[in-house]
Amino acid sequence: MNLSYLARTSLNRCPACGKGRVLKNLFYRHEHCGECGFEFNREHGFFIGGIPVSYGLICGLWVVPLLVMWFLKWMPTDWFVGLCLGGAFGWPIVSYRYCQSLWLGLYFCFAEDEMPEKHRGK
Ligand SMILES: [Zn+2]
Repeated sequence: MNLSYLARTSLNRCPACGKGRVLKNLFYRHEHCGECGFEFNREHGFFIGGIPVSYGLICGLWVVPLLVMWFLKWMPTDWFVGLCLGGAFGWPIVSYRYCQSLWLGLYFCFAEDEMPEKHRGK
């Protein structure tokens, strides 16, 4: 496992070279790296893997902390429900492309042999 691929994509960098950008902006992704030409889309439907990444992040970073605050009575129930629903609908819209970038990095962490030889181990 090589965590450098995930580190690069978490900073919106190409997993192969670490220089080009994966995302154009919050809502659009490049098809390939502007620096090394690496094709980001591995196969049809590849970026569906971003959905469980988004789900994991919203559960870990939003719902669980809200649940803890609600159980500790630091937050009224109507605020808890409102914030959970707001996060459930707002988070996927805002993080959609970023989670695809994270998925790209995760994929190569566990499948480094899929990375072209010239980019491996960098
Ligand atoms: Zn690149």
